Amino acid sequence: MISKFYDSLLTLAYPQSCHICEKSVESSNDGVVCQKCWSKTHIFDNTETICHKCGRFLSDKPTDFETFCHQCDEHFYDTARAAGKYEKGLSASILNLKKEPFISKRLKKLFIESYFEKPFQDVNRIIPIPLSKQRLLERGFNQASVLAKVLARETNLTLDEYSLIRTKHTQVHRAGMDKKGRELSVQKAFEVKREKLIKNENILLIDDVFTSGATASICAKVLKKKGANKVYVYTIARTV
Ligand SMILES: [Zn+2]
Ligand SMILES: [Zn+2]
Repeated sequence: MISKFYDSLLTLAYPQSCHICEKSVESSNDGVVCQKCWSKTHIFDNTETICHKCGRFLSDKPTDFETFCHQCDEHFYDTARAAGKYEKGLSASILNLKKEPFISKRLKKLFIESYFEKPFQDVNRIIPIPLSKQRLLERGFNQASVLAKVLARETNLTLDEYSLIRTKHTQVHRAGMDKKGRELSVQKAFEVKREKLIKNENILLIDDVFTSGATASICAKVLKKKGANKVYVYTIARTV
């Protein structure tokens, strides 16, 4: 009751219009998206068919066997999963997270609950996909670190923001470069700083959104080259 009252006070104090439909957001727990738009957001609940390796959405209907999209065959991570589709509530929240280091209660709950449903049981170290120094200065924070911190607190796993660094910022999708060229330029952008810490570890890479998986794959490659055992990827959302 009190929290409901407090919530409506907050709504009065900070009128927030939904970033999707522009109607008012009635609970501050929902962040920048209203309840109705959240309810239309596809959160993965294990009833759909996804690629067993990269988590790509394949069908609304479940299958009894492991299915692979094969576009991720050459990726270096072991398994990638996302909480839901990059759409509506999730895409609006992620765009907002790139502007301010704030995670609504709803997003946090979703991110944590979904984590425990994923096949990440043997993870022992959490690493956010790093930003370059220059990008970090521009933005003031790394949105992947914000998420990684939240998850580390809930799981008591080691948060490691130092072992993997990004020396320069390169776009994965560079115009005028073929696939190999792009991969090479991204690969050179990541470095492992503290090899001892990641040796034989099962690492969970955290990012806000999974698109082609190229960046995550390069990070996994670099980490494994320096002795990491398994590398998993977990994001809030993934593009379809
Ligand atoms: Zn809305
Ligand atoms: Zn796949």
